[in-house]
Amino acid sequence: MIYNVIVIGAGPAGLSAAVEAKKKGLSVLLVDKGSIVNSIQHFPTSMVFFSTQEVLEVGGVPFISTAPHPTRVEAVSYYSRVARSYGIEFKGNSRVMSVTKTSNGSAHFRVELKNEVSAEIGFLSADKVVIATGFYDQPNMLDVPGENLPNVSHYFREPGLHFGQKVVIVGGKNSAVETALDLYRHGVDVTLLYRKEAFGKSVKYWILPDIENRVKNGEIKARFNCVVKEFLPDRVIVDVNGKREEIDSDFVYALTGYHPDVSFIRGLGVEVDENTGIPVHHPETFETNVKGIYVAGSIVAGYDCNKIFIENGREHGKSIAKDLVAA
Ligand code: NAP
Repeated sequence: MIYNVIVIGAGPAGLSAAVEAKKKGLSVLLVDKGSIVNSIQHFPTSMVFFSTQEVLEVGGVPFISTAPHPTRVEAVSYYSRVARSYGIEFKGNSRVMSVTKTSNGSAHFRVELKNEVSAEIGFLSADKVVIATGFYDQPNMLDVPGENLPNVSHYFREPGLHFGQKVVIVGGKNSAVETALDLYRHGVDVTLLYRKEAFGKSVKYWILPDIENRVKNGEIKARFNCVVKEFLPDRVIVDVNGKREEIDSDFVYALTGYHPDVSFIRGLGVEVDENTGIPVHHPETFETNVKGIYVAGSIVAGYDCNKIFIENGREHGKSIAKDLVAA
């Protein structure tokens, strides 16, 4: 079978692209190396969305949650329901290894998949391909010694695991601030290390006073103008305003943001700007310089992962689907 379109990445943007293509009567396969909305499944367990339910909706399916800001669990359940209600064909645990153009007359794309469980390789075909692989899989590394220690992580999940511990957080935006507050409220001794002199405006306005007051009261310790030099099993070596300090730590969350896997899209022939990480694409149709390959969701904004969220990334699918049927 040759699908009209294969969508790679089953986050909200990829799901939206699949739903919109299906609504146009196209045959669609949605694939992901993990599960449906894989990144959301791995967000902090008790995470609550900053966005309200209506701006997270996909395909016009109503999102009803117990409060205006849904929980992570409600979102996973909602997006699964969207996929089910549109009868989206989904292939999970399937990592796309390559996408190549066939040249046997009826040119289409050959998509090579590796099953993440069995390591088995398979091939599928499609006329068009949409890439919506997001950014959550690639953390921004600090590139300092000790970053690969077992007590250093770029992903926070569960505050209760750290009760009574000393936890160091690196970073000063939403993930770092939210994690610091969550850990503090679970009996954790928190020290936050931030390279700038103060928290900025990009911290959500309703949590900024909370973190500022916790720091002011000394309930959460913070070091500003702080550069991490090294992680050791029981402490972190830093430079604060040019002075070396050692901070005791049982665990470290380096919440320094994430970036898209541009090497993957480059491997498909898509040109990517060296500095911004933005793939060459048509601003309205989202088709890249490779005819028949589209981008959707946060990957469209390259390394700037504060520009495209679920609420605007979900819109890409509509423009792509329009172009898919027009082509
Ligand atoms: P982020 O916004 O990219 O922030 C990364 C932080 O790490 C920044 O404070 C940055 O410093 C710092 N940093 C980056 N590289 C560094 C380095 N080499 N050395 C030291 N510090 C470094 O990442 P994020 O907070 O994980 O947020 C990612 C996305 O998820 C955003 O779109 C955010 O809004 C979203 N988010 C949503 C929720 C929610 O809905 N509940 C929660 C958390 C995050 P600078 O400030 O100097 O750049």
